[in-house]
Amino acid sequence: MRSISIFGATGSIGESTFDLIRRNGGADGFRTVALTGGRNIQRLAEMARELRAEIAVTAYDDRLPALRDALAGSGVEVAAGNAAIADAADRPADWVMSAIVGAAGLVPGLRALRHGGTLALANKESLVTAGPLLMETARSYGATILPVDSEHSAVFQALTGEDIACVERIIITASGGPFRDWSVERIATATLAEAVAHPSWSMGQRISIDSASMFNKALELIETREFFGVDPAKIEVVVHPQSIVHALVGFCDGGIMAHLGPADMRHAIGYALHWPDRGAVPVERLDLARIGSLSFQAPDDAKFPALRLAREVMAARGLHGAAFNAAKEIALDHFIAGGLAFPRMAAIVEETLSRMNGIGRDAQSLDDVLLADAAARKLATAIVNEG
Ligand code: NAD
Ligand code: MG
Repeated sequence: MRSISIFGATGSIGESTFDLIRRNGGADGFRTVALTGGRNIQRLAEMARELRAEIAVTAYDDRLPALRDALAGSGVEVAAGNAAIADAADRPADWVMSAIVGAAGLVPGLRALRHGGTLALANKESLVTAGPLLMETARSYGATILPVDSEHSAVFQALTGEDIACVERIIITASGGPFRDWSVERIATATLAEAVAHPSWSMGQRISIDSASMFNKALELIETREFFGVDPAKIEVVVHPQSIVHALVGFCDGGIMAHLGPADMRHAIGYALHWPDRGAVPVERLDLARIGSLSFQAPDDAKFPALRLAREVMAARGLHGAAFNAAKEIALDHFIAGGLAFPRMAAIVEETLSRMNGIGRDAQSLDDVLLADAAARKLATAIVNEG
């Protein structure tokens, strides 16, 4: 029986993963090793009981008593804190879903790779923060990373059986988010509720706001570069409001393979779960005649500076990705907490990158990455406080 773990089980991707695990037999189809979550203890406990997990871990120390109570008599071990989450990744599992949000997903992902199994990677921040380290760890332990971002799963599928040397371009699509047609002036007044209201995808709060600012697509540009190892000049973004075409790969003969599907992450998760085979996934089937038309437009870099910043990060390499992601996370924290205007997020990230020292060199170790991440968080916080 295949063994699995889900990091970030109680989130949007975690719930979709749980749904697919359950539809494929649940506790009778898989041996569940670890499930991790945050503050939603009831849900974490419910999932752990149903899948008869070995261990359930909450990220928060103060939630441990509640988790212990909720799982009393179940036989499921409990633990709390970041170190406990990383330790849970040391327990071998054949298939591990990395669906924690933010750079917090990096260490558990790296530790899980050391078993040489499959890491289904939704946590794009770990590739942005430490792409070379993650890919090298997978190589040296003989592990497989499968992308679980709709665009990257689409590219991966379009590349199956193809020669990467014959790839001319990789085009990832962006819905454009809720502010696609807003003026610069109106975007400056955007509220949290408006930023979270994604037009085509239902996702966690943080990635939804990142979609509104195009920071999600910026992270995905870097994710594409790190995962597929292609020259950044070959990676394009096109705005496609219907979110039906997820990505396209253009080859040296001028042909383009596109991947289409409904805006349901269970497709990309299911692909990673069944890979290298294909298995049934309960997503809605597309009715193209009813959809009628698909439209595409160039992204507006003036309105959304995030894509330009991502291109600068890709050109600079080194520890710029770690600093970029960390500064973005801090800016996002402050936007969510209130008191930071929406466009200030990009300004803070840009200012942080311009003031950071020592990020031009390549990371030699995880410590280098974590130090750059911490320094960028500190600097970004100081810049927010400067007002
Ligand atoms: P979410 O906020 O819905 O869930 C995040 C999960 O991580 C929860 O279980 C939460 O408890 C846990 N978590 C949060 N902070 C943590 C921390 N500091 N330490 C440990 N655990 C923590 O997020 P989501 O939308 O499911 O996204 C998860 C990841 O997948 C992100 O990296 C996101 O970019 C990526 N992703 C999501 C979607 C989507 O449709 N939601 C699509 C593509 C990629
Ligand atoms: Mg995506």
